[in-house]
Order: sequence, then structure tokens, then C-alpha cells
Amino acid sequence: MEFKNTLSFARELDKEDALHAYRDKFHFPKVNGRDVIYFTGNSLGLQPKRTKQFVDDVMVDWAELAVEGHFYSEKPWWDYHEQLAVPLAKVVGASPNEVTVMNTLSVNLHLLMVSFYTPTQKRFKILCEEKAFPSDQYIIQSQVRFHGLNCDEAIVEVKKREGEHFWRTEDILQKIGEVGDELALVLIGGVNYYNGQVMDMETITKAGKEAGANVGWDLAHAVGNIALQLHDWGADFAAWCSYKYMNSGPGNASGIFVHERHLNKKDIPRFEGWWGTKKKERFLMKPTFEPMENADAWQISNPPVLAMAPYLASLELFEEVGMQALIKKRDSIVSYLEFVLKEIDAEVESSFEIITPKARGCQLSVFLHGEGRELFDHLMENGVIVDWREPNVIRLAPAPFYCSYEDMYRFGQILKAGILK
Ligand SMILES: *Cc1c(COP(=O)(O)O)cnc(C)c1O
Repeated sequence: MEFKNTLSFARELDKEDALHAYRDKFHFPKVNGRDVIYFTGNSLGLQPKRTKQFVDDVMVDWAELAVEGHFYSEKPWWDYHEQLAVPLAKVVGASPNEVTVMNTLSVNLHLLMVSFYTPTQKRFKILCEEKAFPSDQYIIQSQVRFHGLNCDEAIVEVKKREGEHFWRTEDILQKIGEVGDELALVLIGGVNYYNGQVMDMETITKAGKEAGANVGWDLAHAVGNIALQLHDWGADFAAWCSYKYMNSGPGNASGIFVHERHLNKKDIPRFEGWWGTKKKERFLMKPTFEPMENADAWQISNPPVLAMAPYLASLELFEEVGMQALIKKRDSIVSYLEFVLKEIDAEVESSFEIITPKARGCQLSVFLHGEGRELFDHLMENGVIVDWREPNVIRLAPAPFYCSYEDMYRFGQILKAGILK
């Protein structure tokens, strides 16, 4: 399609957008009395309007039923998390028994590494991308030290090539080959938080498995953003948070995936708690742990229901719309944003550069050559919520659920005014 950088064209696109009505199902902050242009759905998704009701329902049940709410509320609390597994499994391409919701992301990565990073004298190395998200780096380093190993020897980072802004799959595969039978675990971010790159998870997973390693994915920036087929790809495990593209509220609960081949095992190393034990026997208070037959075996505590409620509300929206429709709009709105950026870049003198490679989801990371922090301040003052990463990168993530084409056009105009100021 031939794009045009005009308001009327952007409005035409909005009219044809099958998801346009969903914008109205979210709360937008306001700046200068107007809904903001929200580009930080990759950091904290907007609040769906229906979420409050889900939380209120729990509050009412608690007030009216108290402890009886565990079993007798409309959505009983004792297995509340199980309702999330079915819709969430569709989002990540898994079967419901491979998915559960618990704790928060970094905590879950630690718990999953307890099960899937079990170094031996020979096989002890972890392969990750260079400059991984800081929490992931701390997790990996502290796990390595926990096993009494040396980070310099045990952690292998795949670097970007000189002068390039992205990782090449062939370089990752080559590193996997090089490390070979010393490789214990591959653990990479499925979508990189900085440049927005989508990793070739299928190919990398296959290579890691062929090398005899376990393969896990941090899907913080992937879930609700790109098409995932975790089961078919054969990943051993994955974890993600729910507050980015999944719109479930600040710091909210994390989802995990454990491949079917690891379920129903008693001998797997795992930190265990009473919510992971067989449901029927949970209240028999027996001294031996009998694992749930699904990913719930990794559950430790009884579910934080007040946190699960917003996740359930959000999953209802994903269930209604489906990933396919979201991805279709995502590709189109990101292309339009890219077009608008290129138009503006041609009109102004100081240039900027999109560092996100073609393998992308919702995010475009833009490296500003001339401008600095003042431009970021100008955007924020004019109701454009973006985020800033050192040294000079703004990340733009137009979440397809609630961003409009008109937003992209208006953003371009505000950006241009900021550069020309
Ligand atoms: C957002 C993000 C996290 C955040 O972890 P929390 O435990 O939820 O604070 C971790 N890893 C990656 C790659 C992220 O993008």
C-alpha cells in the first residue's frame, strides 16, 4: 500500500482498522486535556477498562465470603490461576498443561534455572546475548556463582558485529557449535528489549537442543507481541511478565512454560511448595510432595488472586481478538510509523536512524544523531509517552490493541516541531 503522511490518510487507515474500537476499551492518561500518544506498551501496557471489575469482584467476595471465597466464590481462589492457563497457552503456542502463572519474572527465571541449569564438570556453560536485560545478567551471574563456578568461564555472550545494531542468527549458531558439549543452557531474550529484534527462536532452539543443551527464553518483550510456538519449537522452558504487552498492571504476575517432556517427573531438581503438589491431596497435609501433572508442579505458594484478576481480564481481551489480528495490525501500524519517520527524516536536517532490524515486532528503536534529551522532553511535554535509553535511543512501541494511525501521524508532526525548534 502507498502510504501518505497526512491526517486524512491516517484517519482513513483508522476507519479500515478492524481493531480500532478496542482503543476505547483502555484508559489513556491525558496531557493538555488530550489522550496521550502512548509508545510505552512495551514497558507498561495501558489499563483495560474492564480490569477494575475483575479486581472488584475479588474484593467483594473477600468482604462477603472471607475464607469461604477459596472454594465458593464465582471464581474460586484456590485454583484461580488455572483459569489463566487456557487463554495464555494460545498466546504462547503451548498446550494448557505446559503453562502456568506465578510469582514475577526474575523470580521465575531463577526457579526455572534451578530445574534447567544443572551444570556438570564438563557441561557447565550458559550462552546468552551480549548486553542482555540487566536482571537477566544478574540472574545468570548469580546462578553461576551459586554453583561455585566462575562467570568468566561459564558465561558465553554472543556479540553483535562491529558497526551493526543486531545479532546475526548465524553468529549465535556458530557460538553454540563452538561451545558444543560444554553447553548446559541457552538463555536469550526472545525479543530484545533495546533494539526490538525478534530472535529466530525456532532455529536457535533446534541448534541448542542438538548440542545437547537445555534452551530457555525470556519472553518479556515477546509475549502478546509476536507469534510464538513454544511447544513445537521444543524449548525446554520460558518465562515472561504480564505488565508489558499483556496489559496486566505494574509489576504483575509472570507466566511460565515448561515443555511437556519435563512434566510428571519427581526426580527433576525443583524448588517445591504446597501449591505444586497434587490438587486432590493438597489439603491432606501429607509429608511427601506429589507433583501436579502439569506446569503447576512449579507453583510454590497459593496464588495472589488480587494480582491474577487483572491478568485474567487482559487475557479475556486477547481471547476476543486473537494474536493473528493483533499481529496483522501490528505489522501495518509499525510500517506506517516507519514511513512517517522516514518522511520526517527527509524533511529535517539532523538525521536519525532506525536500529531495529527487519525481524521485528511492535517496537522501533530510533537512534538520534543530532538531538538529545531536549527532544525527549519536547515529546513528553506534547503528550507523546516514549522512553529513553542511553546513549541516544528512543523506543517506540505502538501497541496494536490501542494505538491509532492518527497517533502515528500526530507523533510525526510533534517530532518534526521538536527537531526544528
Ligand atoms: C521487563 C523485563 C524483565 C523484568 O523482570 P521483572 O522480574 O518483572 O522485574 C526481565 N527481563 C527482561 C528481558 C525484561 O524485558
